[in-house]
Amino acid sequence: MEKRIYNFSAGPAILPEPVIKKAQEDLFMLPGVGMSILEISHRSKTFEAILASAKDGLRKLLDIPENYDILFLQGGASLQFSMVPMNLMPPVNKADYIVTGVWAKKAVKEAKRVGTVNISYTAEASNFNHVPKQSDIVLDPEAAFVHYTSNNTIYGTQFDYIPETGGVPLVCDMSSDILYKKIDVSKFALIYAGAQKNIGPSGVTLVIIRKDLLERSQDSLPTMLNYKTHTENDSMFNTPNTFGIYIIDLVAKYLLENGGLDAMYETNKKKAALLYDCFDSSNGFYRAHALPGSRSLMNVTFNLPTPELEKQLIAEATAAGFDGLKGHRSVGGLRASIYNAFPLQGVVDLVAFLNDYKKKNA
Ligand code: PMP
Repeated sequence: MEKRIYNFSAGPAILPEPVIKKAQEDLFMLPGVGMSILEISHRSKTFEAILASAKDGLRKLLDIPENYDILFLQGGASLQFSMVPMNLMPPVNKADYIVTGVWAKKAVKEAKRVGTVNISYTAEASNFNHVPKQSDIVLDPEAAFVHYTSNNTIYGTQFDYIPETGGVPLVCDMSSDILYKKIDVSKFALIYAGAQKNIGPSGVTLVIIRKDLLERSQDSLPTMLNYKTHTENDSMFNTPNTFGIYIIDLVAKYLLENGGLDAMYETNKKKAALLYDCFDSSNGFYRAHALPGSRSLMNVTFNLPTPELEKQLIAEATAAGFDGLKGHRSVGGLRASIYNAFPLQGVVDLVAFLNDYKKKNA
């Protein structure tokens, strides 16, 4: 193959090309080190500097205040479904969950093993085609925390606001939209995200935790599942995902050198608008799964008049170099994941392809 194809995968997903090229250069020998990034000890000065730089880059990009720790853990976002309630639910042992998709449901399932879960809102009856308005969320002022998923990767819905919780700590699964724009981190008690969409490769999970929350973690917790273990050891209690953290450092540097998250957000809005405008002007040939007001800038999900037309479109698109457009089985149809690293030109080309396909098949 002579050129890279357009990768619309939901995750692991496309990374910035300069990051891949730099990693390729460093893979044989890190400059001045004489060893590959894959071969160095996590206790080496070189790796310590990479970890510090990755944290520093994220702190700058998101303006993470000093009273928050940044952790690089393993076990994916899925392990956070357990770690969050195990660490943060006691002593009141009840929490509020806003259910806007399959990942939120999985988080609820794990939280129920620890304590009482109050479902503050669920969009399940409409196959998760929207996120709630603030006024639709029913909160318990005595809950240990409120948990929500900012972007629903499978359904293509996204919160365009941060829920107000009246002082109850807010926990967010930001796996599929972290870094898509600047957010006010001080509104959150804890943010977690699997790295494999907007931050880096799979196998490393970012956790941003407000330090006062650590008082809740009880010593009786298994060592590896206690946030304190990881804050006290700077994510190096055991061997971390050294390669993953190295890539996160490169991604953060790349974003900082390219206008930071404000620039990302401007491009992300443009990319998503191109697709939604294409659907809205297609006389119903293309239908977005997400309702207006809930439409994701990261995962654009849509359907055609019949499953046969969808299947044929996916086949023709794949042959034309647009990869990964098949939707998740729970919504069917198509999904174009257009994370930070996905180029604007790729969306322009996809829209031209969709318009052409409609002309031939409508
Ligand atoms: N939450 C969200 C919003 C996701 O999109 C995913 C994975 N696609 C997960 C959680 C699970 O992440 P992991 O595979 O890292 O456990």
